[in-house]
Amino acid sequence: MGKFIVLLGPPGAGKGTQAERIAEELSIPHVSSGDLFRENLGNETELGKKAKGFMDSGKLVPDEITISMVAERLSRTDCKDGALLDGFPRTPFQAQELDAILKKNGNVICCVPYIMVSDQDLLERLTGRWTCKAAGHIYHQTFNPPKDSGICDIDGSALYQRDDDKKETIEKRLAVFHEQTAPLIEYYREKDLLVEVDGTQPIEKVTEAILKSVQSKK
Ligand code: ADP
Ligand code: ADP
Repeated sequence: MGKFIVLLGPPGAGKGTQAERIAEELSIPHVSSGDLFRENLGNETELGKKAKGFMDSGKLVPDEITISMVAERLSRTDCKDGALLDGFPRTPFQAQELDAILKKNGNVICCVPYIMVSDQDLLERLTGRWTCKAAGHIYHQTFNPPKDSGICDIDGSALYQRDDDKKETIEKRLAVFHEQTAPLIEYYREKDLLVEVDGTQPIEKVTEAILKSVQSKK
């Protein structure tokens, strides 16, 4: 059976940062719904055009667009032995759909690390986030700066500040998290998959805690 892990946490908790590390450590692909949307925006696809307004205003993109996009990604051969999901599911309905998608191939979610950070810290993290144009590698101007300002350490591409990383949009995204995504905490706790991780620790410590949580649910 494949290893399917869902990284849960509010915007800015460190899901993308951790996913890059954990996916490499466990040799499974990192599947980020936000990255998939941003690829579509960059390539100006029909899907990207449909998603743009929702993303710019900090709202969730409707399910009929989101679920089929993630299902297509999970159907590719690199995901047959598992995947690290980041940013999906974001509602209980998406969680049920994910269970159904995995079940078709006899798979289930094995672990849901929940990265906990206070709203105040999240605002500071998101307003200082810099993202790489080429592959979405993530930096912070103070907490995790690149070696050369404005340039990705890994692939040398330019760093940019996401359009949705401005104060008003961040506040909207945090409200959306509390209203629509937070119910997933209980959803996965009831299934005995949830492991709470203190996301305020340094990046390496959070990685260790997540890897430990995955071990604990083997
Ligand atoms: P998410 O994918 O959950 O939205 P990111 O991984 O993009 O979160 O991280 C949000 C911002 O916080 C980035 O600028 C990142 O560099 C920074 N960050 C991530 N983890 C930590 C941490 N443990 N301590 C301080 N800053 C962090
Ligand atoms: P962050 O981790 O900083 O919140 P993401 O990159 O995960 O950002 O998501 C950016 C935006 O993409 C969200 O605000 C939302 O508009 C859209 N999005 C990403 N994942 C989903 C999802 N599972 N369902 C609906 N919309 C999504």
